[in-house]
Amino acid sequence: MRSRSKVACFVILVVAMFLTAAPSASAWNSHGACTAIIIEDQRWLDAYRTVSVTEWTYADVDTEATGPNFTLRYLEGGPGTVTSATAILANYADEPDWYMDTDLSLSAFQALTGGSQGWRHCYAGLGWLRFGTGPARAQYFYDLAVTAKDKGDLYWTFRYLARSMHYVQDLTQQYHGVPAPTGIILKNIGSFGTLVEMCANHHYNMEEYQGLMVARRSPAYMRTLRDGKPFEATKGITAAWLGRRGTWLGRPEVRQLWPLENTFFGEKINSGEAWTFDKTTALRTAKPGTPQADYDTLILTSLERMSGYTRTLLQIAREGLSL
Ligand SMILES: [Zn+2]
Repeated sequence: MRSRSKVACFVILVVAMFLTAAPSASAWNSHGACTAIIIEDQRWLDAYRTVSVTEWTYADVDTEATGPNFTLRYLEGGPGTVTSATAILANYADEPDWYMDTDLSLSAFQALTGGSQGWRHCYAGLGWLRFGTGPARAQYFYDLAVTAKDKGDLYWTFRYLARSMHYVQDLTQQYHGVPAPTGIILKNIGSFGTLVEMCANHHYNMEEYQGLMVARRSPAYMRTLRDGKPFEATKGITAAWLGRRGTWLGRPEVRQLWPLENTFFGEKINSGEAWTFDKTTALRTAKPGTPQADYDTLILTSLERMSGYTRTLLQIAREGLSL
């Protein structure tokens, strides 16, 4: 028992040290671009083709701190401008990354996820330990969407839903559930700086690659975003549950993702220095049986969850908010 405890303590310490220097998480490259594709088939949103932009009047209920550099932007125009539900959802799916969660003091442990942004956008797990509040943030904004709907304020109903969706989507990205395979952390803990750079490179190159595939409208990526299936029954499913579920499914996949990235990107990803792949060469569509094809399969597994969970969240909102 005693030696087991020692091992557990060691692993916790190692991971805590690792997480302390973990890069701040940004997650999927362009939530807005992906969301626009995912919601193309949500015909029920057509009932909300004209929604008037309204002033933010939620200071009494929307009380969680925002970053000092965050400013409320109205992309479609100021209050009174006419927009649509689909535009609001796509335009503000990225809003939580616009300094909303940066430079805040939220938890004594937030350094373990690279700062306040990582703390709010991640749900990193090791054994029974969890670092971050991603699922709670998804729920927080969902609940505010309920409040806005109760007030008859459709603009903020959809804008708060877009924010809730951001966190649910983040948590379907594997590296938001665990920063690296535990074996890699233990093996490389002796060269700690290198380990941190390795993790940052794996995280960001994956997102860059995914973002480019979406930007170039890769057929496989488009198909996955369009076809992600929502949960059939939504009873008992909440925004927070979707977030937790996403990380639970994503964590084991990191063990496959990591070595595939070594093969596909090459060993420079583990060089210990910031490195980004040559975007001109990696843009070709993967040939079957190549490491790139295997890599696509794994990314598309989580992208399918991103799509399906987004649809499920909208389904929950449609039912729960009587939209
Ligand atoms: Zn995020």
